[in-house]
Amino acid sequence: MNTLIRRFATALALAAVLPHATAGEPAPLQVHAVKPGIFALVGEIGGRTYANHGLNANFGVIDTADGTLLIDSGASAQGARLLEAEATRLTGKPVRWVINTGVQDHRWLGNGHFRSRGAELIALSRTVEFQQKNALAQLDSLRPVLKERLDGTEAVTASRVLAGTHETLDLGGRRIEIHYFADAHFPGDVVVWLPQERIAFTGDHVYVDRMLGILPQSNAETWLEAFEAIKALDPTVIVPGHGSVTDVAKAQADTGDYLAFIVSGVKALAEDMAGVDAAVAQLGDAPQFARLANYDELHRGNVSRAYLRFEAAQ
Ligand SMILES: [Zn+2]
Repeated sequence: MNTLIRRFATALALAAVLPHATAGEPAPLQVHAVKPGIFALVGEIGGRTYANHGLNANFGVIDTADGTLLIDSGASAQGARLLEAEATRLTGKPVRWVINTGVQDHRWLGNGHFRSRGAELIALSRTVEFQQKNALAQLDSLRPVLKERLDGTEAVTASRVLAGTHETLDLGGRRIEIHYFADAHFPGDVVVWLPQERIAFTGDHVYVDRMLGILPQSNAETWLEAFEAIKALDPTVIVPGHGSVTDVAKAQADTGDYLAFIVSGVKALAEDMAGVDAAVAQLGDAPQFARLANYDELHRGNVSRAYLRFEAAQ
């Protein structure tokens, strides 16, 4: 592992001409060249580990006339340095802006590193609000995994906080939209949308190849609404939060259909006050989704957490 695999000739060509920014350790990420000057850094689909620096997620790198835009900053200062090295190797330009697509650790706990490097950190106010609420718990749960690799990590939120829910930016000549549709994997999750290229960086709204995780903070019902809103953008390329770069059809199969299965099944049982044990007994076996990685570890817990949320809302 830790071998950088570059899938496309453009990325290979860049690799040939640009020196590695850091000697030694390569990032635990695969580079996927999406369009000229637009890259996805695709992380492992398993859990956070010491070896992967908590970079078990996807990130975006966008080359602009005035510098590099990075989408999401990683789970730690050290992870952020790896992302920075990859981004600057791909574009040849320093990271000038970072946009956070969400609240989970690997979306933003690398922010402090990029602040120290002079980058502008951009997020919507709802995202920042929930980052602040979750920061201490996230750092506590990362410590036993990343150990000393978490040293130097500070929970730093955006320096440029956007008050709206749908914002349009011009960054180095690229039109970049940030859309909050609904609370999803976490409250305050957003999508970065490139309307000219029709590319959606969905953050944790979309998981492919692996099962998504419904956490106590997740709202499966509004997550499904947000997913439908992403589809309505009519993207030609989806860079999911987890898994391979994909299209709407695969995102539907691996995220949309699963969320619909959970929401329809769990909601009906909660309205009947069936109880969480009955919900897990009835819905805990879903062979149509067993092809997704992490099914055994996550599916039954997803059912029970989704049920408890619906029950509490009754
Ligand atoms: Zn995630």
